[in-house]
This record gives sequence, structure tokens and C-alpha cells, in this order.
Amino acid sequence: MKPFHGFKHIERETPQLEPVESRLKHFQEFDVPSGTDLPQRQASRCMDCGVPFCHNGCPLGNLIPDFNEAVYKGEWKVAYELLSETNNFPEFTGRICPAPCEASCVLNINSDPVTIEFVEKSIIEHAFAQGWVQPIKDIKRNGIKVAIIGSGPAGLACSDQLNKLGYHVDLYERNDRIGGLLRYGIPDFKLEKDVIDRRIEVMKCSGVGMFTSVNVGVDLSVDELLERYDKVVLTGGSTIPRDLPIPGRNLKGIHFAMDFLEEQNRVVAGLHTKFDTNILVENKHVLVIGGGDTGADCVGTSNRLKAASVTQIELLSKPPNTRHSDDLWPNWPMVLRTSSSHEEGCDRAWAIMTKRFFSRDGVHVSGVELVDVEWTSDENGINRMLEIEGSARTLLCDHVFLAIGFVHPQKEGLLSELGVALDEKGNVETTHFKTSIDNVYAAGDVRRGQSLVVWAISEGRAAAEALHADIPQGVN
Ligand SMILES: Cc1cc2nc3c(=O)[nH]c(=O)nc-3n(C[C@H](O)[C@H](O)[C@H](O)COP(=O)(O)OP(=O)(O)OC[C@H]3O[C@@H](n4cnc5c(N)ncnc54)[C@H](O)[C@@H]3O)c2cc1C
Ligand code: SF4
Repeated sequence: MKPFHGFKHIERETPQLEPVESRLKHFQEFDVPSGTDLPQRQASRCMDCGVPFCHNGCPLGNLIPDFNEAVYKGEWKVAYELLSETNNFPEFTGRICPAPCEASCVLNINSDPVTIEFVEKSIIEHAFAQGWVQPIKDIKRNGIKVAIIGSGPAGLACSDQLNKLGYHVDLYERNDRIGGLLRYGIPDFKLEKDVIDRRIEVMKCSGVGMFTSVNVGVDLSVDELLERYDKVVLTGGSTIPRDLPIPGRNLKGIHFAMDFLEEQNRVVAGLHTKFDTNILVENKHVLVIGGGDTGADCVGTSNRLKAASVTQIELLSKPPNTRHSDDLWPNWPMVLRTSSSHEEGCDRAWAIMTKRFFSRDGVHVSGVELVDVEWTSDENGINRMLEIEGSARTLLCDHVFLAIGFVHPQKEGLLSELGVALDEKGNVETTHFKTSIDNVYAAGDVRRGQSLVVWAISEGRAAAEALHADIPQGVN
């Protein structure tokens, strides 16, 4: 077949998934390995557009048509080299990116987009399997010491970039393991943790220093930090969860989503043998408040832990199944998304407000009072919410997970000790990734608010670039 003609004959196809019944019995990833034929065929669907809108859709600017062409031709090493130019960790994005590139793929105007994310994952997995992903041993050092605080995707990407440029990089993490939300937050069934370990090993062997269980600002004082290092990059994430301060909030059984998800990551890692008895959901009725991805992760986790029922509610209206006429390609479409966790079993409902939690014994939550709401927008486009009269009702539940977002980074400790300026949302304020404190930079969720892994990687790279640009020429 001629290059770039596959879309005429080949349908979009992604790897098969293990059937629901069997995948619910474990916490591992559940796509069936597909070899190299399927990605090669799928890559041939890329049209090599004159203006590849997918570039714009990808926050990393991945060279998508180029790596698609290489994969189509079976030039896997070329594909790996192209992918590595823009993305430090395709093995993360290839698994858990929502793939805004696919939304802006030109084929997506009137057909199914190229399976870009799947091709990306196939390239990097092939590269690891072939032994192409190796530590870099011969880096010329420039003598400049950088501390990076927070080991999520932003901190990891920033460390990787600066290390390759010759900086002496030390990455600090207050948790007991490296990875940020990749490690503790995102369930293992979406991202198995040996995928992180594999990359960490390559980075360590390339010279990045990694220090866990160090809460910078507490265990390592800010004075010491600034004395030891020439430059500091803050990549501590956006960790303060949004609360729902309604009557009954203090009842037992109401948890922040992260308390549940992190605990389960630790159980899977063998770090806890017994689950926190407060969050034992087996045979219990679970209510997840918040219709986003974190909520979906609570659904998937609850189902694997054999909850009796799982309900997920959302305050906003149900999105349409297809784009509205004013929601135009190549923008990210505001449509209903159904994740693999939803397919595993869950009652979903929208436009519902939680009024109060109640308890039969006065200690543990036994249900919620809900009311339907209606969303309208006024002549200025401002959305207004109205409670629908007579719609109040109760829903019985034994556990509630609050998955309604994160408000800002933690201020106590490092940020307040540094005295770094914050923006109106409480995130670290920056100009070109520089904070208000000399020689201190910031990237990722700590700066832009809770976002996506692909954005965190992009920000980590951009902060590294900004830091490097501030170093007088001639060093290195
Ligand atoms: C449950 C959940 C599921 C998600 N699923 C997806 C998904 O499927 N796809 C996707 O693209 N995005 C997803 N996201 C969002 C994504 O995980 C984040 O946007 C991304 O991890 C942000 O990266 P980061 O490096 O900025 O911060 P984080 O990943 O939050 O890492 C920050 C790290 O800094 C450490 N830290 C903070 N302060 C200090 C200190 N003083 N000293 C030492 N260490 C410190 C923290 O312990 C943490 O480990 C999800 C988020 C959540 C909560
Ligand atoms: S990182 Fe995300 S947006 Fe970029 S090419 Fe990969 S799947 Fe698409």
C-alpha cells in the first residue's frame, strides 16, 4: 500500500481489552498485547497532512506524522528517536493521556482519528524490549547544582532534561517512592508501577540523584536548600483536595478520593497488607461525588474491591454524545466520556447537588440527600444553577468518595518558608517559569493547577529550558 493511504481501507482499531469479569479480579493493566502488526497498520492511516493539527493538539508537540510514517515503514528505531525528541516519558502518556492529539487529528473531522496514543505506546514498549532505552553515560557536567522538589511527571521531566544538559540534578520526594501521582493516585490498572521503576532506573544510571522521604521545607530547611543548590525547581503538584462542607461532612465513611486511591496503590505495591478498615468497600454501597477522571478511578477501584454498588454523581449537566454545533474541531470536544472503569459497572447521574450527609447511628454515613439542578446561561453567557423544586430525595450509601478536584498546592512548609508569591488561585506565580524568588522556578500542577500528565511533562521541559537560558553562555 502507498504511504498515507491506509485511512481509505483500514478502520481504526485499538488493542482488545481483557473481558470485564476477568479484569475486575486484579489491579493490573488489561489491554491484550498486540505485537507490532496492529500499530504498523494503524500508523498507515495517518494522512501526513500539510498542516498536522495533531501537533497543536499535543502539549508536547510530538512529531506525530513523522513517527507514524516511521512505524508504518517498520523503522521502529527512527520512530523511537523522533518520539524521544519531544517526550521524555511516552510510556506514561501512551497509557494515560486523554490524547487531545486524536481529537484534533484531521481524520477526526468526518472519520475516526489515527490511534496516535496507541502508536506512541507501541513505539516506546518496542524500544524498551529492544534494549534501546539506555542510560546516558558520557554527559559533560557544568558544575551547576539544581534541586528539584517533587517527583511527579513535571519533576521527572525537568530532572531528565537538566541532567542531559550537564547539570548536577538532585530530585527530592517526600513520599517513600518516586513518581508523584503516577505512583500514588493513578490506579495500577491504568499504569502499572514497574513502568515508572524502569524509567527511574535509567535516569538514576544517567546521573540523576533521587532522594525519597524528604519533605523539603521540613526535613531539609529552605536555608539549607538555597545554600546547597544554585537553582531550585518547585514541582510539588496541586495537592489540596476540594472539600464539600455540607451538614454531616464529619461522619465516618466520607473520604477524599486520594485517601482511597493512594491506599490501594500501597496495597498493590505490597506496602500494606491490610486495607484501612475505614475504607473497606467490599459488599458496601459506594457513592462517588464528582464526574471526572479521579471519580472514574474510584469507580474502577471500588468495583475491583467488590463493592455491592457504585454510583457516580456530577453537579454539571450531562454532556452531549457528539459535538455541539459551536464546539468545533480541532478543539477538545465537550462530549460525554465513558472510561473503561464506567464500562465495568456504575450508575452515573448528572445535574445533581448533594445537600447533606446523614447517619442512622450518628457516627457512620448511611446516605445522602440529593436534589436535581438545572443549568441555564444568561444573556452574558454566565451559567446559573437552579435547584428543581420537588426533586429532593435520599440515596443510601456506606462510603462516599469526594472527587471534586484540587484547589491549590499546599502552602504550609516549603512554599510559605520560601515566601514565594502565589497567584489569585493559590498556585505558584511565575513569569516564564521563574517564581518571585531569585533562582527558584516552578512547573507542573504547582504552577498551573491540577492538570494532566502530558502538561506536567511539557512544563517540566519548559522550566528546564527557562533555567538553562538564564545561565550565562560559556558555562558547559
Ligand atoms: C486520581 C488521579 C488520576 C489522574 N489520572 C490522570 C490520567 O489518567 N491522565 C492524566 O493525564 N492525568 C491524570 N491525572 C492528573 C495528573 O496525575 C497530574 O496532573 C500530574 O501528575 C501532575 O504532575 P506534577 O509533577 O505537577 O505533580 P504530582 O504528580 O502531583 O507530583 C508532585 C510530587 O511532589 C511531592 N512534593 C510536594 N511537596 C513536596 C516537598 N515539600 N518536598 C518533597 N516532595 C514534595 C508530592 O509528594 C508529589 O509526589 C490524575 C490525577 C489524579 C489525582
Ligand atoms: S502525549 Fe498525549 S497528546 Fe501528545 S501525542 Fe501522545 S497521546 Fe497525543
